[in-house]
Amino acid sequence: MYAADLHIHSKYSRATATDLDLEHLHREAMRKGVSLVGSGDFTHPGWFTELSEQLVPDSGGLYRLRDDVAAASAAGNPPSCRGEVRFVLQTEISSIYRAGERVRKVHNILLMPDLDSVARLNARLERVGNLKSDGRPILGLDSRDLLEVALEAHPEAICIPAHIWTPWFSVLGSKSGFDSVQECYRDLAAHITAVETGLSSDPPMNWRVSSLDGYVLVSNSDAHSPSKLAREATLFDGEPTWAALRRALSTGDGLVGTVEFYPEEGKYHLDGHRKCETRMAPVETARAGGLCPVCGKPVTVGVLNRVEQLADRDAGIRSPRARDFRSLVGLDQIVAETLGVAGRTTRRVEELMGRLLERLGPELSILTEVPGEEIQKVGGPRLREGIERVRSGDIVLLGGYDGEFGTVKVFPDESAPSSLRSLFPPSSPSSPSPTSSSQ
Ligand SMILES: [Zn+2]
Ligand SMILES: [Zn+2]
Repeated sequence: MYAADLHIHSKYSRATATDLDLEHLHREAMRKGVSLVGSGDFTHPGWFTELSEQLVPDSGGLYRLRDDVAAASAAGNPPSCRGEVRFVLQTEISSIYRAGERVRKVHNILLMPDLDSVARLNARLERVGNLKSDGRPILGLDSRDLLEVALEAHPEAICIPAHIWTPWFSVLGSKSGFDSVQECYRDLAAHITAVETGLSSDPPMNWRVSSLDGYVLVSNSDAHSPSKLAREATLFDGEPTWAALRRALSTGDGLVGTVEFYPEEGKYHLDGHRKCETRMAPVETARAGGLCPVCGKPVTVGVLNRVEQLADRDAGIRSPRARDFRSLVGLDQIVAETLGVAGRTTRRVEELMGRLLERLGPELSILTEVPGEEIQKVGGPRLREGIERVRSGDIVLLGGYDGEFGTVKVFPDESAPSSLRSLFPPSSPSSPSPTSSSQ
């Protein structure tokens, strides 16, 4: 089994880290324990050049990093974090277009089998819009037509609707999406076989919508910096090859499950207005008639509420094709809280992280598999407790809203009840998230 992160960005996308290049991605993938990483941004001419120069085809129809770059990357890691990493050619397109009398804004992930077909696709998309301005280009191209163009560039092209529930830029989003995947891709809808659930939703939320039963649910990081790699990931059986990946994404055969954010941590879990600092659970939004109590304008309806609108099943029911999943919190966050320091990037955090990776291996295995006593030997009893709390879901969460990330506390304040999975503002102390009892 291996972990894959199929949606990332490069330094050529807006608001991304300047070190988001192949060498750093490769090094970080080894540190996280990810064996297959999306290339990100293949539509960008500068990034396409870097991909062409630094990636070489492997025997399984995917790509690996050129030997000298890979060696330089691996040298920055302890021997415990030097597993093999492959790349799959990937990009994300932001489509903004009119359909059914409304403006639609949908993000789509594309995966392509080889650089030649990427070059063909890029040449075609260049005629539609500017690919140079942003690694995630904005094109006035209907999602259905984007899919068609990708399939023309290569019949094995894979299109995955990205973070399908986010309000502003997704296929099912409350602001400019559709009510079903079918409605968006119309006659080509059968080519859509997998959807990305995004940071603000987890599988049980998606299981409530029976029209999603036919889709393989995947999770990816959408990373804008190397350290965010694999904050969500998808687990597959066997060895990474293009054929196996394509089969798993189209039929679910070979898909083991996903590694998830707690959805409350995502930026659009609850409703509200960021600038008015109104964070509202769906029940409060309903009570307020959908309006912000501060400014009186309609609130940004988040993912939890939107799922509720489209749901035709009660919470807690597994969809027929459901896979296993685990909800995790970043190791740097747990370490920072264990040490009682504010930042995830302070020297003390980095030192302990380095020791943990060196002694125990990559981050995903520390978070999910390494026995508590091993963790305790390297990081002490409080770190062990922190990781065990995350594994059992015994943590405190405050849901994100309107673009503001939610917050997670692994160790509850003494004053707060430790068994609550979700904490809402004082105005609604008794309205826990419907997902809180479904895991
Ligand atoms: Zn996106
Ligand atoms: Zn407001």
